Amino acid sequence: MERLVWLNGAFVPEAEAALPIRDLGLIYGEAVFDTARTFGGRLFMGAEHVDRLYRSLEAVRLPEPMPKAELLALTEELIARNARALRPGEDWWVTQRITAGLRPLDGEALEREGPTVLIECTPLPLRARARFFREGIPAALARRPRTPPEAVPPHAKTTNYLNMMLAQRELDETRPGAWAILPDMTGNLAEGAGCNVFFVRDGTVMTPADTVALPGVTRAVVIDLCRELKVPLRIGAVMPDEARAADEGFLTSTSLCLCPLRSFDDTAFPVPGPVTARLMAAFSKRVGFDFVAQYLAFDTGGAA
Ligand code: PMP
Repeated sequence: MERLVWLNGAFVPEAEAALPIRDLGLIYGEAVFDTARTFGGRLFMGAEHVDRLYRSLEAVRLPEPMPKAELLALTEELIARNARALRPGEDWWVTQRITAGLRPLDGEALEREGPTVLIECTPLPLRARARFFREGIPAALARRPRTPPEAVPPHAKTTNYLNMMLAQRELDETRPGAWAILPDMTGNLAEGAGCNVFFVRDGTVMTPADTVALPGVTRAVVIDLCRELKVPLRIGAVMPDEARAADEGFLTSTSLCLCPLRSFDDTAFPVPGPVTARLMAAFSKRVGFDFVAQYLAFDTGGAA
């Protein structure tokens, strides 16, 4: 079955969904988005993702296109309409995108007023990332800092990912295969390219504050699980040398959930480390879905 998207008021086949070339999201990156995922076809923490999307709108001074509840209901409806397009054993990334709409042309009426609103379902990259759950993710510190909060607030999930892509490209050249972790402007860790970072030392879980990183929905769940399981937690500055001296580490994101690090720079970690394994199991229980088994079902056994 053909996948559908919701675009500016209608459900349309993805292949027929087109944006005008004058969309400000394309021209200036004047756009925000948020991405949730499904577990077994059901949306997880949809309301939290929509809340973050609306905080992103506020942070970049874009108007709300509709009430939150309406956007969430449309998102749920899209997932239901795409149910038969979901391949067996797989799940969706579910993304809402809102742009500033069309750029005015001097003396011409706009083709369409108001923001552009798109909701889309993308198959999760289960094949591409399966081996990370077998081998762990090699990570390294990029030289390029994360955009400072004074320039663009990190709690806004905007379409401006060039900062992280450039950090990743830098590492693609200097340390091929390593996932980029970006420092903040003071040199402490901020976040990974598209994910939050956690390290564990002497039983204490450490993660940078969300003043320098996106407040990840997965990160919030992990913080909650640490409190529930009484795992000591330190939220705040994590120095690169502390991360290099850690016993274990993991990344969090909507798609990865929690994924063990196998290294950070030249430090190797167990995959997964004991605290990471405990939190991964607790996360599976919380979401009622074995995300590791899902990834591993798509593992082709190829080396990293
Ligand atoms: N940081 C950045 C920059 C991201 O793009 C993401 C992915 N949304 C995350 C962290 C992780 O956030 P979440 O757990 O909500 O996916």
